[in-house]
Amino acid sequence: MPDRTTAPQAHGLRTIPAVADTHAFVTARDLHRRYGRGAFETIALQHATCTIAPGDRIALVGRSGSGKSTLLHLLGGLDTPTSGTLTWPALGARATLRPTQVAFVFQMPSLLPALSVIENIELPLLLGQTDAATARRAATTALAQMDLAALADQLPEELSGGQAQRVAVARALAYRPRLILADEPTGQLDRPTAQQLFDVLLAALDGTATALVIATHDS
Ligand code: ADP
Ligand code: MG
Repeated sequence: MPDRTTAPQAHGLRTIPAVADTHAFVTARDLHRRYGRGAFETIALQHATCTIAPGDRIALVGRSGSGKSTLLHLLGGLDTPTSGTLTWPALGARATLRPTQVAFVFQMPSLLPALSVIENIELPLLLGQTDAATARRAATTALAQMDLAALADQLPEELSGGQAQRVAVARALAYRPRLILADEPTGQLDRPTAQQLFDVLLAALDGTATALVIATHDS
């Protein structure tokens, strides 16, 4: 995080216990991420320490440029820190995290326009060698969880922005991941639609051990 005034605030993050927690999904200690060198150097993140435990619901809040995306990418193994220690005690090695253990949701839903809603959700599962019947079952369950069952056969162009983003969340849920990292998932939505997405997602995860980290600049 560049400095005190811009550092994102993590609500719900725990401090790291003295003894390594083998049940933790992620332990991060003193992470730094620097981009570029010399005159072009940017310190995107510094001194980030946290533990993500099963069932956590964490909001990572900070203004634009404060390092939220950088931290999410590190937590999900998309990127490696310049320095610091990062482990996934209960999830395994970095190379095995995605897509089954850790799922990302980004600001743009990025649905394939030629595929129906349910096909968009199934496709990553099919590419990952899941058989067709299992993929259909997982997609159907995820659609119902996100209150989208009636839209299964629609094309993306027929959806509202909020519906499309709920499909993107359903696509993440279909893996039954243990950690969901959402990077400003409601950044393109108006307030009531954003609230609806949060409500449906939190209800879908209610009572599960799946951990959720949502980055947002909107407290
Ligand atoms: P946020 O998600 O909170 O808006 P980011 O993590 O995207 O913040 O960015 C933190 C800082 O790191 C910003 O100053 C940004 O410009 C810089 N940054 C992010 N990604 C890169 C990159 N790939 N190359 C250079 N600078 C970057
Ligand atoms: Mg960002």
